[in-house]
Amino acid sequence: MEFLTQEILADIGLLSIALIAGSILAIFIGLILAYIICKKKGFAERLHITFSSFALRILLLIFDSIYIPSKRIVSLLGGDDLMVDKAAAKVRNILLRREFSRVPYSDRIVIVPQCLRSLECKTSFNSEIGAQCMGCRKCKIFDITEKAKELGYKGTYIAPGGGFVKRIIKKVRPGGVIGIACAYEMNMGLLEVSNQGIPVQGVTLLTSGCVETDVDLEEVFRVMELIEEDKDESR
Ligand code: SF4
Repeated sequence: MEFLTQEILADIGLLSIALIAGSILAIFIGLILAYIICKKKGFAERLHITFSSFALRILLLIFDSIYIPSKRIVSLLGGDDLMVDKAAAKVRNILLRREFSRVPYSDRIVIVPQCLRSLECKTSFNSEIGAQCMGCRKCKIFDITEKAKELGYKGTYIAPGGGFVKRIIKKVRPGGVIGIACAYEMNMGLLEVSNQGIPVQGVTLLTSGCVETDVDLEEVFRVMELIEEDKDESR
């Protein structure tokens, strides 16, 4: 074709090389930052305090843009392919914390994964409202449910699996949500709930897997108790 002169082809070639180089650079920078955020406690918070939420939003944009290739690269190198999920979840938590802490306890719900239950759990599931703890005290869901009652939360729901978060939010219409999940589910869940305009906070499981997982109760309680006070954390 005549309009594709040699100069135009050369420009397209240069532009393609620039795009590829830019993508490689973004993946490289994103992975380094994700690694630091995962390894250095408080790093993401310091970034927030020093550079404002704008810096974290840019960071989140990088994480979301490099998500699939970066997971493949980390996996190929034998690293933790959940690193970007963990870092992105931390950043989302920080960005949504202030808004979440303004939601009264009575308008919040907690969603816990069914894998946190004891294998001896006798509760039964309903596809619409999940399951409710029956109080046998054999797993940490009991403590979380009790804490939620003590603070006056709207409810605690045991999620039977994917798709439940959407259903329960549609049914209960909470003002705020706390989710407990593995790093991958957490990152996706925070994104899904916040996209609906609902302030959300997540706590990542200490151990992942399909049965008898574990969570840091102190961390769960700390998040459940968040209320308005951390005004200076978000700018
Ligand atoms: S404490 Fe509740 S959720 Fe845990 S095993 Fe007992 S009934 Fe099931």
